[in-house]
Amino acid sequence: RLSLIPLVTDVETYVPQAECDVCGGEGCPACEVSLTLSAEGPGTVYSRDLISSDPKIQPADPNIPIVELKKGQKLVLEAIAHMGYGRDSVKWQAGVACGYKNVPVITIENCDACGHCAAECPKGIIRFEESGAKVSSEDVLKCSLCKLCEQVCDIHAINVGFDENAFVFTMESDGSYTAKDLALNAADVIKGKAEELLSILDQF
Ligand code: SF4
Ligand code: SF4
Ligand SMILES: [Zn+2]
Repeated sequence: RLSLIPLVTDVETYVPQAECDVCGGEGCPACEVSLTLSAEGPGTVYSRDLISSDPKIQPADPNIPIVELKKGQKLVLEAIAHMGYGRDSVKWQAGVACGYKNVPVITIENCDACGHCAAECPKGIIRFEESGAKVSSEDVLKCSLCKLCEQVCDIHAINVGFDENAFVFTMESDGSYTAKDLALNAADVIKGKAEELLSILDQF
């Protein structure tokens, strides 16, 4: 349970232990952080009770329950955290959810401004103006492609399609680092693998 508590990770300062040139993988301040905990029951021990040797490395969420202590029970521990790769263990997987969809494309022509589509849209992205229905270029990204708007339009004025070559990615991080950094790091890994493949192909 302790090892699954996400820690805010400073990828600029620390290196994965197996790749640490300073200690050769033995463990040192360049590749590990100590977190201590001392608590006494009765009460619940939370992630916020961990004291980190590096103020920058803290639990991403302070309210993760660790254990319930009864009256008279004590808990004293030191945990050593080090960086690793998600492919090696789930405890290093910073991405908790990831999905994508094609970029929606909505066209509205010859609209008679009845407003039915705007009332039906579960995402509330169709604005109903006097001149007719409108969806802004920003809001169109929120469209779920459910096509309910098409179904309620008697005169087929609204059409919902998608761009086959453009995608909206949604990523959720566990808080170890931001979703943006998660996406950029993942792209770097893919880029590195592509370069490796190219260099192998160059040998033929
Ligand atoms: S397809 Fe669904 S989400 Fe998209 S605009 Fe129409 S009703 Fe709204
Ligand atoms: S349902 Fe059709 S006609 Fe009515 S506002 Fe929407 S697009 Fe226009
Ligand atoms: Zn080290």
